[in-house]
Amino acid sequence: MPELDYLELTVLVEWKTEEGFIGDAAVSYLLKTGLGSMLYDVGRGPTHPALTHNAAKLGFHLDQVDAMAISHLHGDHMGGIPAQRSRQVTLPDALMSPQVKSCFLPDKAEAKGFKTERVERPQLLTAGIASTGPLARSLFRYGFTEEQALLARVKDKGLVVLTGCGHPTIEVVLEMVGRLSSEPLYAVGGGLHFPVTGGRVNRAGIQVQTMIGTGKPPWQRITDEDLSRAISTINNARPKRVYLSGHDTCDHALDRMTRELNAETEVLKAGATYRL
Ligand SMILES: [Zn+2]
Ligand SMILES: [Zn+2]
Repeated sequence: MPELDYLELTVLVEWKTEEGFIGDAAVSYLLKTGLGSMLYDVGRGPTHPALTHNAAKLGFHLDQVDAMAISHLHGDHMGGIPAQRSRQVTLPDALMSPQVKSCFLPDKAEAKGFKTERVERPQLLTAGIASTGPLARSLFRYGFTEEQALLARVKDKGLVVLTGCGHPTIEVVLEMVGRLSSEPLYAVGGGLHFPVTGGRVNRAGIQVQTMIGTGKPPWQRITDEDLSRAISTINNARPKRVYLSGHDTCDHALDRMTRELNAETEVLKAGATYRL
């Protein structure tokens, strides 16, 4: 992995937002480094106004990135439920570029207008940013969900790790990161999937996130004990900064992490840029 002068994360879609931006229980991050740029996930694509609105407000267009990577094949990351059902990464037309770019996927899927590249193992993607490779976890109803986390090495700081929903668990993600590099951990960011007191998505009165994507059967919830374990894992890995995602984690869990993590924490907001 090349040493990067900086890594800049601009949040296109998140649950929390800066003023004037639209929030959603979904994720899209724009990553810029001294070596290029990459889009990580596309939220609910054309099925929710957040990505189109926020991208327009930030002046973002696909022409500005070298490639795209999708963390995993869930609707809140690959362009909505129709995209998930058809395994076709889908972006709003307004963002598309006439130039065909690579789309790095952790599993078999298509992405219209892109050259799809399936990531089978840890590898360098683009802009000096690497993938952990697919880290599978059995998820109720979805079966075997492959998710890739991103990894970068930033000069004078250390490793930066970014997750999508964090379904493989932060334990598994950090274990893989430890195998790939002995550099100290500087920052962890993205979804950790802790809908402890409730989820962000309510479908027909059902709190979808508390039941699906937890790695447990739906009658077993994610608990405060599970969260305590994740907090110790992160504290043991000693990152200096943790950028939390509210898209799949409840306010109670965000509060606990803010209080109990030794790192400086920040909750990611759509419209904001973070220099890592
Ligand atoms: Zn998610
Ligand atoms: Zn997910």
